[in-house]
Amino acid sequence: MNINKIRKLKGFMPDHEGDALMKWSEKFSNLGPVMEIGTYCGKSTMYLSKGAYINNQNVFTIDHHLGSEEHQINEEYFDEEIYDYTKKRVNTLPLLIKNINDLGGINIIPIISDSVKVSKSWFTDLGMVFIDGGHSFESANNDFSSWEPKILTGGSLVIHDIYENPHEGGQAPFEVYKKALQKNYKEYERVDTIVCLIKG
Ligand code: SAH
Ligand code: MG
Repeated sequence: MNINKIRKLKGFMPDHEGDALMKWSEKFSNLGPVMEIGTYCGKSTMYLSKGAYINNQNVFTIDHHLGSEEHQINEEYFDEEIYDYTKKRVNTLPLLIKNINDLGGINIIPIISDSVKVSKSWFTDLGMVFIDGGHSFESANNDFSSWEPKILTGGSLVIHDIYENPHEGGQAPFEVYKKALQKNYKEYERVDTIVCLIKG
């Protein structure tokens, strides 16, 4: 998979954070499959895919494809390219499928549903979980409590959009990060707003 093509995709993953994600995916997919919460158009998914491919491992990625609060019409990150004007809803699924086909993400398995709903019937241990879904406190906490138990010991929990300063960004991912550190997680590495914790 061509890294320059990944860089040009629509999404919320700057190059340096994407490189970290790819590196962690390579390291931890050695233990088991990778699970991503919050696919959007698949930009972060491609970094995960490129890393896991080296271990012949799958990347599952969950999104209802209806967008988060900030992607809705009149909100800060609204984007008309992923808005279905006839159905009056955000729909990121067509662009995700196009991106997977264009870049050849053969180890990517998209799941089109709600994160918590999927977790209730998910019984495969995971090498890595990447939380980048809804950024409300409720959504971020639900993603953590639903998916964290499925990570193998020695596997990793990666969280995006960590902002210590409330003026720079929402606090829900940071809250989840602090909660994990109070449990059996230790910080492995951090690059800007993305952090990788290891489960003890
Ligand atoms: N990882 C992407 C960005 C994800 S944006 C990238 O780096 O480009 C967050 C995504 O989470 C949105 O597409 C939204 O539809 C999805 N989302 C929010 N709440 C969700 C939930 N409860 N279940 C599934 N997906 C959810
Ligand atoms: Mg993000």
